[in-house]
Amino acid sequence: MSTHHNSALLSVQHLHKAFGGNQAVNDVSFSLQAGELLALIGPNGAGKSTMFNLVNGQLVPDSGSITLEGVSLVGRKPHALWHMGVSRTFQTAQTFGSLTVVENVQMALLSADGQSLSPWRRATHYRHADALQLLAQVQLDTQAHRAGNALAYGDVKRLELAMALANEPRLLLMDEPTAGMAPDERHALMQLTRDLVTQRGVAVLFTEHSMDVVFEHADRVLVMARGALIAQGTPAQMQADPHVQAVYFGGGKTFGAPASGTP
Ligand code: ADP
Ligand code: MG
Repeated sequence: MSTHHNSALLSVQHLHKAFGGNQAVNDVSFSLQAGELLALIGPNGAGKSTMFNLVNGQLVPDSGSITLEGVSLVGRKPHALWHMGVSRTFQTAQTFGSLTVVENVQMALLSADGQSLSPWRRATHYRHADALQLLAQVQLDTQAHRAGNALAYGDVKRLELAMALANEPRLLLMDEPTAGMAPDERHALMQLTRDLVTQRGVAVLFTEHSMDVVFEHADRVLVMARGALIAQGTPAQMQADPHVQAVYFGGGKTFGAPASGTP
């Protein structure tokens, strides 16, 4: 873990991204420390995915800066970011179903090591022990030799997490990591993520629809609405913020008890 507690791992300053005349991300600034789990929430159309894709290199900002330990990430493609220690998981799990579980992780290790990937060349012998160790960290080692497409959905998400760890990330970006999961599975995945964050000092930025996940597991929350960052703070602070409640839920509803989350 960093000894420079004052310097952020990730720093986003005055970020702008418009589609036509639509300011999808409008002057957003925030920072993220090593070992921190930061949630990005907001109603549909708030700009979460745009913000997320600016950080992961899929989109290029119109203006503003994104730096990782002082190094600009702007204009770098996702694969270049991966080699800088920026990893991501996807809303819809992305694995190679035809390979075994351990081979999936071996493919990620090959990529992390800058080896060229030939889809027809199986990675059976490549860093097998390291791959098993990564699987053990997500409690999938007992399923290492099953086909990827034979896993239950929650296990695919854990496999994806093991693959995201193959490059020893400093920053892990997760796009709705618990989408499509049952409540107990969601909490298990986020608890696992928390343990990895603690053990490895990784910083995590994740978008999330489920309020119970955000309030139970995030260290800090960013709230976006109509492209702007309208509030940030601890889950408790956000839960108590009338501005957040009004904008995020359009009046009426307030944040409920943890168990009441959104679909
Ligand atoms: P969220 O993820 O919070 O639902 P998005 O970032 O997907 O929000 O979208 C923010 C705004 O930007 C919306 O008005 C959306 O219609 C618009 N937008 C997002 N992506 C594109 C795109 N590729 N082209 C045009 N408009 C887009
Ligand atoms: Mg989105």
